[in-house]
Amino acid sequence: MKSYRKELFFEVPTRRAFINITPQVEACLMESGIREGLVLVNAMHITASVFINDDESGLHHDYELWLEKIAPHEPVSGYRHNLGEDNADAHMKRQVMGRESVVAITDGRLDFGTWEQIFYGEFDGRRRKRVLVKIIGLSFNRISCLQLSVTALYPGWRQVPGPGV
Ligand code: ZN
Repeated sequence: MKSYRKELFFEVPTRRAFINITPQVEACLMESGIREGLVLVNAMHITASVFINDDESGLHHDYELWLEKIAPHEPVSGYRHNLGEDNADAHMKRQVMGRESVVAITDGRLDFGTWEQIFYGEFDGRRRKRVLVKIIGLSFNRISCLQLSVTALYPGWRQVPGPGV
């Protein structure tokens, strides 16, 4: 079993943004050398999200309007949390969009559905923030795992090379 940890940094110049971080997560996966396992990606701040959805600008615009409807930034005075700060809405937007995403790793790749991409959702930007990438798993493929198990159970068993092994 292997374990890998990395922090990604973001400094979004606007208050809110959605950023496709799939390429960064794929780079982490390559660096980890893990081929079978799970990757956890989570925002390390309580005013930011990590979520999986479509990389489609219309949808992101819809999210923005929807989130403003259920947790509007203004009036700032409408929130009890906003004593000395103005980010109560950002806490709520993050809650709705979620803290983290988990993706299966199969044969060294993120095992996505057709349109799935990983996004960093910023709701209180203009400062440096972090995302954690944690990967756990095995650095060999499923066939090798099976062969190792069989060898462990039956020491006398000898591996015969076959196609794709
Ligand atoms: Zn706050």
